[in-house]
Amino acid sequence: MNQRMYQLGSKRSVIREIFEFGKTRAQEIGAENVYDFSLGNPSVEPPACVKDTLLKLIEEPDQTALHGYTSAQGDLFVRRAIASHIRGNYDENADENYIYMTVGAAASLTITLSALCEEGDEVVTFAPYFTEYKVFAETAGARLVAVESDPDTFQIDFEKLEAVLGKNTRAVLVNSPNNPSGVVYNRETVARLAETLEKASEKFGHTIYLVSDEPYRELVYGGVEVPYITKFYTPSIVCYSYSKSLSLPGERIGYIYVNPKTEGAKELYLAVCGAGRALGYVCAPSLFQKLVARCVGKTSDVSVYRKNRDTLLNHLTKCGFSCVRPDGAFYLFMKTPEPDASAFCERAKKYDLLLVPGDDFGCKGYVRIAYCVSPDMIARALPAFEKLAKEYSL
Ligand code: PLP
Repeated sequence: MNQRMYQLGSKRSVIREIFEFGKTRAQEIGAENVYDFSLGNPSVEPPACVKDTLLKLIEEPDQTALHGYTSAQGDLFVRRAIASHIRGNYDENADENYIYMTVGAAASLTITLSALCEEGDEVVTFAPYFTEYKVFAETAGARLVAVESDPDTFQIDFEKLEAVLGKNTRAVLVNSPNNPSGVVYNRETVARLAETLEKASEKFGHTIYLVSDEPYRELVYGGVEVPYITKFYTPSIVCYSYSKSLSLPGERIGYIYVNPKTEGAKELYLAVCGAGRALGYVCAPSLFQKLVARCVGKTSDVSVYRKNRDTLLNHLTKCGFSCVRPDGAFYLFMKTPEPDASAFCERAKKYDLLLVPGDDFGCKGYVRIAYCVSPDMIARALPAFEKLAKEYSL
């Protein structure tokens, strides 16, 4: 068998391990006594249009069309609806011929990196980063290079970025709002990133692509803007997913948008189609393609996440813990009062608080707290955080 695949399959992710532990513990002491902050599974209901559309779709007379194969890159009318939404809100150049429907952001990223990279290329990203990036980059034959972010803000450290860009850099991968820090890059940061990549592309004599992983685009609080990457940097690709915006992570639906202004955009889009084919990702789920075409622009009620963020952040700060204030997504990245984050998580388990060590996100000395849980659970967990803080005399 292929040894890399064996390793990937036999070593479960730390997040999954903790989640499984939580399920076992819930059987022992009751689910209401386990404070599981491990997984980014949305707790907010999908917006009403999801159920309404599903009911309408399953009553449609032509059920073979509903459940049949679509075009490899997705149904034309679906891609048209998405392109029109992008044109109306972010980028007037959006075009259905540059959109490729996928089974969520994970597939969007694997396809995009496979379309871009050759063996030996490097994909640069910023720590902390989503744990699967390494797997996606290596599947594309590339090496993931992580650049530490500014530890006080988790924004880009441009000196460190410039130091790693080189002749092997094929792409830079950003994720804003970020999992796990919740940080959002503002216009100034994105413009500076674009300028840095333009200069580096010139210096090294080849295009460095900018890939934007955007499952949390709509999950921002207090009117914070998430700048649209293609407006700042031409050779760019957006990897989108409806997993969080429509609370549909199990249905596996998203898309790739190649900036049509990119030099060689047609060929790049064909490479995306090729990678989708090679990886067996053609023809994303037909029912959910049709659903997103009708729900485009709608989102779940993200005010619940905002309330959770405020309750938890206030309480943790009051207890003496420190975290960078997240403007988006639904995670808090908290500094641990001891350097070993895994040891801290073990102590937290004593109070049935299930947190994820930051090590797998490329950042030691932190834990991730996924607050996409019910506000009730947050309220019940507050005393447990207080007891944990007392152990460290905070
Ligand atoms: N990228 C980031 C930053 C994520 O947090 C996730 C999922 O949590 C993904 C990609 C994968 O998303 P999807 O479920 O749409 O494949």
